[in-house]
Amino acid sequence: MALQDKDRIFTNIYGFQDWGLAGACARGQWADTKSFIDKGHDWIINEVKASGLRGRGGAGFPTGLKWSFMPKNDPRPSYLVINADESEPGSCKDREIMRHDPHHLIEGALIASFAMRAHTCYIYVRGEFIREREQLQAAIDQAYEAKLIGKNNVHGWDFDLYVHHGAGAYICGEETALLESLEGKKGQPRLKPPFPANMGLYGAPTTVNNVESIAVVPTILRRGGAWFAGLGKPNNTGTKLFQISGHVEQPCVVEEEMGIPLRELIERHAGGVRGGWDNLLAVIPGGSSMPMIPAATCQDLTMDFDTLSKLKSGMGTAAVIVMDKSTDVIAAIRRIAYFYKHESCGQCTPCREGCGWMWRVLQRMERGDAEKREIDLLFDVTKQVEGHTICALGDAAAWPVQGLIRNFRHVIEERIDKRQASTRQAAE
Ligand code: SF4
Repeated sequence: MALQDKDRIFTNIYGFQDWGLAGACARGQWADTKSFIDKGHDWIINEVKASGLRGRGGAGFPTGLKWSFMPKNDPRPSYLVINADESEPGSCKDREIMRHDPHHLIEGALIASFAMRAHTCYIYVRGEFIREREQLQAAIDQAYEAKLIGKNNVHGWDFDLYVHHGAGAYICGEETALLESLEGKKGQPRLKPPFPANMGLYGAPTTVNNVESIAVVPTILRRGGAWFAGLGKPNNTGTKLFQISGHVEQPCVVEEEMGIPLRELIERHAGGVRGGWDNLLAVIPGGSSMPMIPAATCQDLTMDFDTLSKLKSGMGTAAVIVMDKSTDVIAAIRRIAYFYKHESCGQCTPCREGCGWMWRVLQRMERGDAEKREIDLLFDVTKQVEGHTICALGDAAAWPVQGLIRNFRHVIEERIDKRQASTRQAAE
């Protein structure tokens, strides 16, 4: 059953209503915020834990648990940093929150910062998001003016919120690269440990959360953790913004329950696969770094963290990229491989060299200009990159290639056969 309107968190995701403070208040935002703060830091964290909310930025780590890692009696200031870098190809949900319903995020930032004893929060916005940054800043200005945030605000917790505009590098979406960039340095990931909860921004305790993870918190507190936990599936609870793009009739962003069947998601909200369901070739379920899933497996597939990881893919940001039978899958993955090659920060050898190597081999495979034994060699190289780098960009580059080889090896082999046959023919 589809998510009912009464359970929708983002009621202005399409921007049909007023995005500003008056509109947000009319939709129920900023109501009872002080009462949540009066209940204390631990009450908020426990309620978020009870909701079962898992991070919406891709990794799916339990949000309440992450918050509980922040030190309670540390003389250093604590920080909340909100990751609005949204650069994963296919992902386009956080921008909708920022431009159409930004007060969800601002109220969530106040509550989450209070829960973690932070008086300062930074929102790191992707460089290309110029209008989103302007809209978000305008909403923040409204909140300051209404004394909802700032010093001596009506909620009794001094709180400053700053928007930082990035310069458009994908790697700055990685949490420690983001912190480096925020500190004014080159956006290159840090080795972990130490983790940001111990040594984050300016060497102080920091939690980095995705926009959607923070924006859903006020509604969770208003309606109760148990309400959120009652939606979706066990261990995969609540609602989620899905982004559907590619070969569908109507690409869209839509809020649905976690665990919705993929076919229902595409047919109900995106007008179906171009040319009908039988024309489906494969789906990338969670942004470009997630391994693709072939059509045969998509029939009964449900969209949640656990199901997708069992299939050796992942929920990621729930950015569903649909590919119909007109797609050249080798070319599609070659293009993705180029993206990761281009965005590698170059710190670690397996990523810096491996990404380019994988891209170049895929270029040849796309033309059929390769040997079949190179398919296993390519797979082997992905395994040497995966898990052997400072940050997850190495994994993100390796997984799509693994998905291609696991599911479409026959396409690569056919391409090689065809090229060899035509070369032979030409020689004869
Ligand atoms: Fe940089 Fe790639 Fe290493 Fe990440 S994995 S730190 S992007 S070189």
